[in-house]
Amino acid sequence: MRFQVIGDPVLHSKSPVIHGAMLAALGLDIPYAAHTVRRGTLSQYLAWARDNGITGFNATMPHKEDLIPLLDGVDPLAQSIGAVNTVCLREGRWIGFNTDGGGAVAALRGSLGIDPGSMTVTLLGAGGAAKAVALALAQAGAERVWVCNRTLERAEELCAHDPRGRLAPEGFGGDALRRRAEQSQLLVNCTNLGMEGCGQFGDFSFLDALPEGAGVFDLIYHPAETELLAYARRRGLPTLNGLPMLVNQAVLALEHFLDRPLDRKTMAETAAAALKQN
Ligand code: NAP
Repeated sequence: MRFQVIGDPVLHSKSPVIHGAMLAALGLDIPYAAHTVRRGTLSQYLAWARDNGITGFNATMPHKEDLIPLLDGVDPLAQSIGAVNTVCLREGRWIGFNTDGGGAVAALRGSLGIDPGSMTVTLLGAGGAAKAVALALAQAGAERVWVCNRTLERAEELCAHDPRGRLAPEGFGGDALRRRAEQSQLLVNCTNLGMEGCGQFGDFSFLDALPEGAGVFDLIYHPAETELLAYARRRGLPTLNGLPMLVNQAVLALEHFLDRPLDRKTMAETAAAALKQN
């Protein structure tokens, strides 16, 4: 038995550190390594993995969507997201899951003390991560999630996947963001804006529109504090970066790999401590 994370590029991935620490804490001698898999070669990888004792792997760019039609089964949540980040061999069948959204909700609860149940949320972005987080927030009981995106059609397409009707599309203009922020107890950035090497927000007046005490969660962890989080912190709002989500999605992935529940809090603390030392 051994585990991997596949992608291209993947050698920068923090998953080997996170999973290595959790496996060691569990006393399990199971290797976990990063493995480069080029786009278009997933079928060959699945055959190779089966022959080489890989019983679970995580997937990152560019494979999260491309894997779906190649698997023997896909969990309903991952199917509606249209992407998997965790794949396990169960009785000879490759089964896919998506733990990104669950990791985000666990991070909000564990690290920010925020339960999204009954909340109105302003969520920025409509890409792969936004879809996983928006659906997880709706599943966790959020009353309304405004999915605000530069490309409105993408937000509309995302919202159409919510069977509960709690997701609603919105534009990305300043007025729209301020109007939705005014009504929200939580704002989540799922765009690339603020990530190292990417663009920046034009202005943060939508953060001024948030009510006192509203949480601000940025999925980005490079840099550790984005300009968005720094602005929110200076306004006195509780903030959270993407690292706790990264850690918590890994805990949920490991539960799938091992097919048993873990002490999630202890595992998350173990992984976070390993990342700090790395
Ligand atoms: P993606 O699918 O490429 O989506 C990118 C999103 O950003 C889209 O909504 C896009 O809008 C928006 N965007 C990009 N440039 C923009 C700009 N200049 N102005 C306005 N909107 C812009 O990416 P993803 O996979 O969802 O990842 C998004 C972010 O989440 C990344 O920073 C990634 O590192 C982070 N992430 C973190 C974790 C974690 O565990 N913490 C996990 C997954 C992802 P359009 O639709 O209009 O193009």
